[in-house]
Amino acid sequence: MTYSSRGIVLSIENFGEADRYIQFFTKDWGMISVLAKSARKSKRRYVGGLDLFCHNEIFLRGDPKDRPYLNELSVLNSFPKLREELDKVLLAGKIVQWITRLANTPTPMPSIYSLLGQSLALIEKEQNLEKLELLNTIFKLRLLCLLGLKPRVDVCAKCEGKDDIEGVFDLNSGGILCRLCAPKANFAENLVLNPSQRNLVNIADQLKLSHWDEISFPQELLFSVNRLMTQFASFHTQVQLPL
Ligand SMILES: [Zn+2]
Repeated sequence: MTYSSRGIVLSIENFGEADRYIQFFTKDWGMISVLAKSARKSKRRYVGGLDLFCHNEIFLRGDPKDRPYLNELSVLNSFPKLREELDKVLLAGKIVQWITRLANTPTPMPSIYSLLGQSLALIEKEQNLEKLELLNTIFKLRLLCLLGLKPRVDVCAKCEGKDDIEGVFDLNSGGILCRLCAPKANFAENLVLNPSQRNLVNIADQLKLSHWDEISFPQELLFSVNRLMTQFASFHTQVQLPL
């Protein structure tokens, strides 16, 4: 049986004398590992599609979930401009790590596949390197939402009250707390989000990435959101994640 799907290269590992295992995030099967025979000897066979981040149409022999062989592929987009800037390569690498660490299962997750493809395309296109930090933060927020881990920042995460909301974020409760609940929580660190930071966390999953040029956020307020979301994700998944 042969199977085909679209997939993005997440990692490459040498195997034996000449082969490589390639991890793909696919549209139809989620994250899978595929054996590319002779990939180290013959680059031509796989037409340059086995580099990190390449978006391909792949054709497999064998069960996609059980380490199939890669028969052939055609490159849809290799994101050449992304590779010209170190900052872009670094961000693409982080995004790939978040996905490999949090969504490493052969289960169809087409919205995560779309988020990954869209994020790589935006990284490639972005001319203002400062805006990459916003893309990084929004990517994380959206991925967390897709994984069912959206932080609660519209009401108190403990009592769901709407009044006297303070910006104090409690990792344990998974969101911000009101003035009544805050003193009862145990904070390892004081994590505070101001109203515009809370708003970003709340609406990130509804922002239309197709209108990326219209999305903006003050750079100086971004870093703490990014750091907090990374802490939040690590806390709830017990997985180390890059900032
Ligand atoms: Zn409360």
